[in-house]
This record gives sequence, C-alpha cells and structure tokens, in this order.
Amino acid sequence: MFFEIDKVLISREEIARRVRELAGELAHELAVELRKEGENLSGEGRVVLVPIMTGAMIFTADLIREMPIKLSLGLVAVSSYPGESVSSRGARLKSELPDNLAGKHVVIIDDILDSGQTLDLAYRAIREQGAASVRVCVLLSKQVERVVDFKPDYVGFEIPDEFVVGYGLDYNGYYRNYPEIASLKPTAIADR
Ligand code: 5GP
Ligand code: MG
Repeated sequence: MFFEIDKVLISREEIARRVRELAGELAHELAVELRKEGENLSGEGRVVLVPIMTGAMIFTADLIREMPIKLSLGLVAVSSYPGESVSSRGARLKSELPDNLAGKHVVIIDDILDSGQTLDLAYRAIREQGAASVRVCVLLSKQVERVVDFKPDYVGFEIPDEFVVGYGLDYNGYYRNYPEIASLKPTAIADR
C-alpha cells in the first residue's frame, strides 16, 4: 500500500469539484473564441489539448470528460524531475511536438507549475508552430520564486513549496495512481 504517504493536501472530492469548474470555464472560453470566428462548435475541430506527459495524464483525462466541445489531444513529453530528484533539473523536450498545431486553439495542460521552465518551453515551442491561440491550464501552482516568470491562464490550486505526489504526479515513477494530492514522508525521499 501507500505507506510512504505523509499527509493529504487536496482530497479527491476537492479535486473533482475544481476540475469541473476549470473544464466549464475553459469550454466556455473556447466556445466564445470559436463563435467569434463564426464557427459551429460541432464543425471543424480546431481545439487541441496538449497534455505534458506523464504528470498531466490523469488531470487531462478528468478534465476533457467535463468539456462538451469537439477537441483532440496531442501529447508532448517534457522531462524536468528525472528519477529520484525532487527539484527541477531544467526542462527538456523528450518527444516531438504534435505537428498539426498551426491555426488551432491550443490548451497546454500540466500537473504543476514550479520553476516555470517546463511550461515556458512548451509554450514557446507551440507558439512557434503558429497556433491561433495558446492557453495554459495547470492543476497546481507552487508558491515559489520562479526561475522563469510564467503566468498560466488557469490554475486549479495554489500550494505551498512542498514536493507532492498523486493524481498523476510521481516520485521516481510511483504514486501517480494515488487519488489525492499528498506529501511524502521525508524518509521516503532519497535526495533529501
Ligand atoms: P517546472 O519546470 O515548472 O519546474 O516543473 C514542472 C514539472 O516538474 C511538472 O510538470 C512536474 O512534472 C514536475 N514537478 C514540479 N513540482 C513537482 C512536485 O511537487 N511533485 C512532482 N511529483 N512533480 C513536480
Ligand atoms: Mg511534468
């Protein structure tokens, strides 16, 4: 079992409620954007959600099922917390970007904003592809001084500067399936 979990910061009920709110706001804003361009929502699929793998997987799965609009997914992998590290080692693209983003309304989804390097990298790369609009939605934002001053459009929760796992977030590949956002016991963390 999850013996190394210390305390729960955000419960599954709180996460579910906030994810529904975020999905509602996002879907509404995208619908307005498409309508401005005179597009029918059931028409051409111009909305692409780009989850940053692997941390954003569970958040994205829940979020998109609360968004009643036509959309597609384009995954991208960025590495910044390799292996047993619990602080950023600088962001690096580990996969190609989806290659059909020109003219699309893109929403980048990530689990957590920390130093800002991951989202800054993804944002710039997607802008360069000529997306019609780029929005950024993160479940968690750590209250820290950022290495890169990055401002996401949507934030689920602000959290203190603590290493967290669960709901997609891992430590050394584990705990992604823990259903709540939680901290780990200090004894469970190798590089402390
Ligand atoms: P940044 O590039 O903003 O420093 O970090 C963002 C990425 O680092 C996230 O996509 C996530 O993969 C990882 N990360 C940052 N903080 C945490 C944390 O507290 N726990 C876990 N598991 N991953 C984190
Ligand atoms: Mg990540």
